[in-house]
Amino acid sequence: MPHAIIETAISCPHCDEPVPLNGPWEAVHCDHCQSDIDVPREFWADMLRSVLKDLPELEPGTGNNSTIFGTFRQTLLAGNLVPYCLACKTDFDPATMNPTMGSKACPKCGKSYIVTAAPEWLTELLPQVEYFMNAVLIDTSGEDSDKTADRPVVFTCPQCGGALKIDGSTRMVPCKFCNVDVYLPDDLWLRLHPAKKKERWFVVFNDTPLPEED
Ligand SMILES: [Zn+2]
Ligand SMILES: [Zn+2]
Ligand SMILES: [Zn+2]
Repeated sequence: MPHAIIETAISCPHCDEPVPLNGPWEAVHCDHCQSDIDVPREFWADMLRSVLKDLPELEPGTGNNSTIFGTFRQTLLAGNLVPYCLACKTDFDPATMNPTMGSKACPKCGKSYIVTAAPEWLTELLPQVEYFMNAVLIDTSGEDSDKTADRPVVFTCPQCGGALKIDGSTRMVPCKFCNVDVYLPDDLWLRLHPAKKKERWFVVFNDTPLPEED
């Protein structure tokens, strides 16, 4: 079964900051400007189709880095690699894995990875996609943006110097001393809401041949 490692990010169309895509997400939250970005299904089908098409030209264990100018400005690392443990580099045998397992534990170090079947919308567009490892299917990072910080942070009101207690639930904090509304600076806000990191994930394809192109 053909298999590939993927690491990819797009530039946010609103603020130009890189936004990682750690799975075939139909929507992604930009942690920098807090906008929600729709990712078309065809974007994923086109990208994974071209990854699959290029695989036979890649020596096992090698990959390509590219920058793609399409729906988004996208950086893509795609490699001809079997799923492996990202912690200890032990290779997994794709034949011992299937999407109904839910997870796969590394036989050497025990680290567990999620294994997920390709969503139906994707297999309808690209029936060659079988399953993913270490990919999450939905970006949930935007949903907990109103989650409060574990420990309150103290920030000084720029107008009166009063101590503001920040819990991360809102970016606009009223100062109880001088009543001004204080908009929290980027570095503080990002400390309370860390931006998601780029993850490597794997896609395993079935052996259905790709249709010939004219
Ligand atoms: Zn943005
Ligand atoms: Zn391991
Ligand atoms: Zn104040």
